[in-house]
Amino acid sequence: MNADATPSFEIREHSAPVPASERTGRIADPGFGKVFTDHMAIVRYTEGKGWHDAHIQAREPLSMDPAAAVLHYAQEIFEGLKAYRLADGGTALFRPEQNARRFQQSAARLAMPQLPESLFLESIEKLVDIDREWIPGAEGAALYLRPFMFASEVFLGVRPAHEYLYMVIASSVGAYFKGGAKAISIWVSDDYTRAAPGGTGAAKCGGNYAASLVAQAEAIRQGCDQVVFLDAAEHRWVEELGGMNLFFVMEDGSVLTPPLKGTILPGITRDSILTLTRDEGISVREEAYSIDQWREDAASGKLVETFACGTAAVVTPVGTVKSSAGDFQIGSGGTGQITQRMRDRLVAIQRGEAPDPHGWVKRL
Ligand code: PMP
Repeated sequence: MNADATPSFEIREHSAPVPASERTGRIADPGFGKVFTDHMAIVRYTEGKGWHDAHIQAREPLSMDPAAAVLHYAQEIFEGLKAYRLADGGTALFRPEQNARRFQQSAARLAMPQLPESLFLESIEKLVDIDREWIPGAEGAALYLRPFMFASEVFLGVRPAHEYLYMVIASSVGAYFKGGAKAISIWVSDDYTRAAPGGTGAAKCGGNYAASLVAQAEAIRQGCDQVVFLDAAEHRWVEELGGMNLFFVMEDGSVLTPPLKGTILPGITRDSILTLTRDEGISVREEAYSIDQWREDAASGKLVETFACGTAAVVTPVGTVKSSAGDFQIGSGGTGQITQRMRDRLVAIQRGEAPDPHGWVKRL
């Protein structure tokens, strides 16, 4: 098979799935990222042979050689998206082709082969279909899908690997933050940055998250929910949280979000919010915003809301910002009007409860 041919998925049936009664118990209050479904999707890549052996099988541990390149040089990328239960009982994905494209961009940055969009979509659709019963029905709950790819070649040496494994696993999830849509507090990292110009900030690679963990741990020690990173060059411009993009709402109703210049992740929720705000006639700018300006505008009342957004946490208000230079509160410290409206609009579209003018919802 040549590298461009697209293999089709084989379903290797599962002999002993988790019994229905146990599954119901596990997904009743799943938390986040702890409850996994019965199956997983796999596609292999071998240089010269291309993508092959596409199949769905029982979820089970992997057996890996200790010299597998990913364990040494971290050549790994991933994605995150959700399958939602619709108001009418159907199932849908939200803009999955965007995840497929971002996965290809991440692959390019990490010198990995690009998985064809059709294979990415098919792997997800087949997995959701076979594990449909694992989608929790509660409000805010969903099936979180985790496509990922890593260098599986048994080889020591710094060069792009010649063999890769692409996989998708799925997890029944509830709300990302325990407080639901309550305002979160965030810690401004002084000592650590997430991504430098020319680095991997715009790619969704595991290494970015490994590098963010000490900063996130520091945020927790400071009593905050999340860390907010400033740019690496000047340590002045607000970039994003550990796993979410940021939006700022001004007193005059205009909205601002940091621009995509290669150091922040191009969030699909971010892009959707930009479209929804523009649909409403709100003036939106993709513009750099400094930590000093943010603090000053919050104090003067020029800035009235800040919210974070991402697949996992949807739209979450930021209530308090803490830093070594002192703390400040955003608006009343609760959920602002635009934050609430954007959250409600996005969730309504995702759940099939509102018109979908941009064709974002992909029914399965
Ligand atoms: N920034 C980072 C660093 C993230 O990990 C995520 C989650 N993928 C986001 C932003 C939000 O992206 P999305 O809206 O596509 O989930």
